[in-house]
Parts: sequence; C-alpha cells; structure tokens
Amino acid sequence: SSLSTASKILIVGAGTWGCSTALHLARRGYKHVTVLDPYPVPSPISAGTDLNKILELGSFAGDDADERYVSNKLLEAATEGWRNDPVFKPHFHETGCVLAATSDEARKHMNTRDGPSEASGWIPLRTKEDFQATMPKGVLTGEFPGWQGWWMQKGAGWVHARKSMESAAREAVRLGVKFITGEQAGRVSSLIYESSDVKGAITADGTRHYADRTILCAGASAAALFDMKDQLRPTAWTLAHIKMTPEEAKLYKDLPVLFNIERGFFMEPDEDNHELKMCDEHPGYCNWVSDTSAQDARQISSPFSRHQIPLESEERCRAFLRETMPHLADRPFSFARICWCADTPNRAFLISKHPDYASLVLGVGGSGHGFCHIPAIGGFIADAMEDKLDDKLKQSFRWRPETAQARDWKDLQGRFGPQGANKVMDFQEIKQWTNIGEQLGEQN
Ligand code: FAD
Repeated sequence: SSLSTASKILIVGAGTWGCSTALHLARRGYKHVTVLDPYPVPSPISAGTDLNKILELGSFAGDDADERYVSNKLLEAATEGWRNDPVFKPHFHETGCVLAATSDEARKHMNTRDGPSEASGWIPLRTKEDFQATMPKGVLTGEFPGWQGWWMQKGAGWVHARKSMESAAREAVRLGVKFITGEQAGRVSSLIYESSDVKGAITADGTRHYADRTILCAGASAAALFDMKDQLRPTAWTLAHIKMTPEEAKLYKDLPVLFNIERGFFMEPDEDNHELKMCDEHPGYCNWVSDTSAQDARQISSPFSRHQIPLESEERCRAFLRETMPHLADRPFSFARICWCADTPNRAFLISKHPDYASLVLGVGGSGHGFCHIPAIGGFIADAMEDKLDDKLKQSFRWRPETAQARDWKDLQGRFGPQGANKVMDFQEIKQWTNIGEQLGEQN
C-alpha cells in the first residue's frame, strides 16, 4: 500500500532504535504509530538501559571512502541532535575522551589513518604521569603498565543512556505514539505473513496488530523473530557498577571517558546514585545453543538476561582497575549485568526495506556502537521506509546476506581483549558467575 502520514506503522521493540524511530516518525507527522515491547521503557533487556555510553564525535571508519562518508553522515546527524535537540541535549556530557591501547597490535589498530592524531587535536599520552594528568589528582593512581594513548579534551564524551532513551519515548508519547508493553500484550511472538508480505505482528496474548509498515527494532532479539540469514550475531558484553562516596563523586565529576581498547572503559559516576560503571573489554560472549526450530539443529547464539557477570569478567574488571585506579580495585560491585547487542559481519548498520517483503523495514545491527546515534538513527530508519536514503547510505545499510554466507562466528570484528579473553567467548562454557545481592532480580 502507498505510504502517507495516515498509514499505520508498527515498531517491534521499544529499545534504543525503536524509541528513536517512534520519535522521528511522530515528528514527521505520522499519526498512527504503535510500538510493542515486553517491557515499558526502559526495558531491562535493552542495550540502552544503562547509565552511560561513549560518544566519539569523530570518524574511525578506516580507509574506505564510502565507509567514511557513511560514518561521517551518521556522526554529523547524531552530533546535531546531541548539541541542539532539547530531547537529547541535556544528556550529553562533553567531557573529552582518553583512548589507549597496550599491545602492539591494538596500538596499530588505534593509530589508523583516520584515528587520533595531533593534527586532529589529540594530545599524545606516553607515560603514567601523562595519563594521570588527564584527571584530577587522586583519581588515576595506577601505574598504567605499557599503556600508550591519546587525549581529546572536547568533541567527545559520554551520554546518559537510559535518560536519553526515556526522553525520546516521552516526547514520542507526547506527539501521539502509542506504546503497548507487557509480557503478554507487548511481546511479539511472530510477524504476520500474508499475501507474500509482512502485515504486522502477533503478540503473546494472541492479538494481531495489523499495519501498513512493520519496522523491526528488536536489537539482539531480532534474529529470533525474523530469519536474518546470519547477518546478525547476538553477542553480549559485561558491565559492573561500583558505589562511590559523595566525596568521591565530587572528585570524579566531569571526568573524560577513559577507554583502553584491550582492557575496558569507565566514565564518571552517575549523578543520582554515585555509581561508577565500567565495562571490561573483550570481543564478546555468544550463547551457542541448538536451534530447536530448525531441521538441521544448527547452533545459534541465543540471548538471555542475567543481572550477574561471569567471575572471569569480574576479574578482568579488577585487573583494569588495578592498572588505573588500584584504590578501587577491591571494592564490591553494587550491580552487574550482561548486555546484548547484534553484530553484522562488517559492523555497519542494517537499515533497509526487505527485498522480498515490501512492507517490512529492518532497523538492526547496532554492532556495539549503536547507542550514540539515538538522536538521529530513527530518521535514517524513517528514510529507509520512505525510500529517501542516498545511494551510499543505502548501499552500506542494505540487506546483504551474501556477506554472511559461511560466516566466521568467531571473527573478532575489530575488537581486542586482554590475554585469555582476546577471542569471542561462549556463555555455555562459563561455570562461575558473580553473586551480587539486592539486585533487580533475574529476568527469565
Ligand atoms: P536494544 O536497545 O537492545 O532494544 C531492543 C528492544 O527489543 C528492547 O527494548 C527489548 O525489550 C525489545 N524486544 C526484545 N524481544 C522482543 C519481542 N519479542 N517483541 C518486542 N520487543 C522485543 N554504543 C555506543 O554508541 N556507545 C557505547 O559506549 C556503547 N557501549 C555499549 C556497551 C555494552 C555493554 C553494550 C552491550 C552495547 C554498547 N553499545 C554502545 C551499543 C548500543 O548499546 C547498541 O548498539 C544499541 O543500544 C542497540 O539498540 P537497539 O535498539 O538495536 O537494541
């Protein structure tokens, strides 16, 4: 059917990209937009339900000119939103960024042609004193063994993830978007296939939500709802919080992001609860299980939710702290969880109409760097639906199963980890998890 602002649009997933899409469609005047999710915003399984995410206002796209074009287009649009859109602006903290690596291989990766350089305003960091001087005295007390890196004082920083997502959803609701949430009413169990097309989605309570266009924004769960032809690899990362005292929170305010691409990253403690979030860095965990729905019993990486992390991940967090802030290295975690994202083979986004189902639009493939695009990504998804993407974006974002044939599921995809974790890992092999009390409780 032809598309107009009177068309019924159904968005599956009210996470990072689903909320952004809802907002952009409402701003474009679409009057009948409905979003389905098992959870109200912020969904505890959304990758965006998090204290903070890194925002790099620069391009790191490598040597390919078209990739650079796409990456710049995305970053320009995101930057515009973080700087000027009242929905997002309050949640952007332009505190700068320290980027570092330890091994030769990772350094080489960091120092690509479009990577940080003095010419583009980065300050080189070579000694432990250099690193320590990027933050107030008493914050970075570590030895920084073998670290080399760069410091950018402006033009980068972090964003409050959960608050940005809630803000987008709130504005979408104000503009008339309807969110239907809940285990029964909001959880999509399958898409509706009729007349060689996708005509909407069925929720767990049996309701058939018919729509003129269906937009799949289910993040790491998208591959369980639609055959993505191996273009998405659900992969999880690990995050942990440490409770800071009010005095520490004051000292740690407005810190630059610190990110060693083989060790991990942290940002300043959050303003509400004074918790410092960190992630240990590694190429990710899959959860390989037999796909019971397939005849050939193939293995798939199946996301699950857990508000704990593997003990080995806790150890990596603490090793990272010992190198940077040893005074915090033994403090108990106040919170931890695994957090799922979906990697395409080349980590470019997949934002496209489906070639065979004319009314299905895909907005997936965040690939570990999809959060900082929340101000604008929904506009690109709306452009895909309206056939307005320019040729280069269309090419980059396209449905591309040919790139996932015989996919190497263990590919590091440009990521690094410390020794022992410099590989894609499997939750099936993890026997020991943290046991952090007083948590939200485990879903599933
Ligand atoms: P999500 O936000 O996960 O949303 C998916 C939604 O689908 C959820 O709300 C879920 O409830 C819903 N859903 C699931 N199943 C169903 C169903 N059956 N029916 C209906 N709805 C369903 N990016 C950055 O830019 N900077 C960073 O620093 C950064 N750090 C990260 C750190 C970690 C630990 C992780 C895991 C990711 C990080 N990312 C970062 C990546 C970023 O978070 C993701 O790319 C982005 O949030 C993905 O958004 P999404 O909308 O695709 O998925």
